[in-house]
Amino acid sequence: MATAGKVIKCKAAVAWEAGKPLSIEEVEVAPPQAMEVRVKILFTALCHTDVYFWEAKGQTPVFPRILGHEAGGIVESVGEGVTELAPGDHVLPVFTGECKECAHCKSEESNMCDLLRINVDRGVMIGDGQSRFTINGKPIFHFVGTSTFSEYTVIHVGCLAKINPEAPLDKVCILSCGISTGLGATLNVAKPTKGSTVAIFGLGAVGLAAMEGARLSGASRIIGVDLNPAKYEQAKKFGCTDFVNPKNYSKPVQEVLAEMTNGGVDRAVECTGHIDAMISAFECVHDGWGVAVLVGVPHKDAVFKTYPINFLSERTLKGTFFGNYKPRTDLPNVVEMYMRKELELEKFITHSVPFSQINKAFDLMLSGQSLRCIMRMEE
Ligand code: NAD
Ligand code: ZN
Repeated sequence: MATAGKVIKCKAAVAWEAGKPLSIEEVEVAPPQAMEVRVKILFTALCHTDVYFWEAKGQTPVFPRILGHEAGGIVESVGEGVTELAPGDHVLPVFTGECKECAHCKSEESNMCDLLRINVDRGVMIGDGQSRFTINGKPIFHFVGTSTFSEYTVIHVGCLAKINPEAPLDKVCILSCGISTGLGATLNVAKPTKGSTVAIFGLGAVGLAAMEGARLSGASRIIGVDLNPAKYEQAKKFGCTDFVNPKNYSKPVQEVLAEMTNGGVDRAVECTGHIDAMISAFECVHDGWGVAVLVGVPHKDAVFKTYPINFLSERTLKGTFFGNYKPRTDLPNVVEMYMRKELELEKFITHSVPFSQINKAFDLMLSGQSLRCIMRMEE
């Protein structure tokens, strides 16, 4: 490769300060160092997490920064010690990694890698504490180790899943974060059996992905729960058979669900981030076998309160991070589920814009119009 070992100049969307529109700038991208890979991004999508850290309300402000973490790309060059990837490989960057050596990576049950677990405050590479992005020599910070709002980016090899090169990157790029999170919460953690009843709390992209997992599991009844009645129409495409709006009832929604289902649902997956929905999701599962899974990220001071008897009567409460998928080991298989036409990704992609219109993608998400908006790097 002619560019290997050299600085690449390319376009990136830089967030200079909190809440201000991103600006497309020419940035310098340094070559990958030990255990790093430089990736040419072809498609990137926008997720709420990008918006949260751009707004930086309550989060540590790290600016100027290149956001972005849902994407698909091709390896341009690799740094010293990288043996699993080579130029030309197709990859999905992931905000949380898999070093394959720590206790978590060696455990079959965990995906919370000690070395490469998500760190939202770090704006530099873990190898040398430096940024690989500069503008006129001045550093621009990274975001969750991925910074995909750039034509080229540098990523630790442990945060890249090598996928089938036949897979269309403009579709599978959305498996980098939210869709895998919801899907895995159902398939890997809630594990509903065929014919069961599943309640999904929160019908955003993550909840609809959890619903897709329920559909794939053969659930016969899928109850969507959301405060926004407009969410039902879209949810029907994902297999939603019943819709409950907690606002329409004077009693707690867990009681409404128990009445609808002869004692409770078999599985519940919470994808709202609101503590009252978390408690309802747990309390609406059937005694004896019901399992509830928490996915949403609550306010840091939120406290979960329930009666211990709810556990003693054999209900289970679990939580999950990135759908329990190990990024390098498991994501290639999720891509194959799409290739076999089991998993439907198209219905999540509501919009597509050229990269130069990235601020439009933010507007679409902020106004609640988009589930996923794909940005094309090549116009
Ligand atoms: P979203 O905002 O698009 O969707 C949330 C939905 O929940 C909305 O439709 C909203 O109307 C609904 N809602 C809010 N409060 C409710 C309540 N009390 N009862 C019922 N419905 C309610 O969000 P999203 O992008 O789909 O993400 C969902 C959650 O998943 C967020 O909290 C996000 O931070 C979290 N998340 C977790 C992980 C993880 O690894 N655990 C990864 C990604 C995202
Ligand atoms: Zn690890």
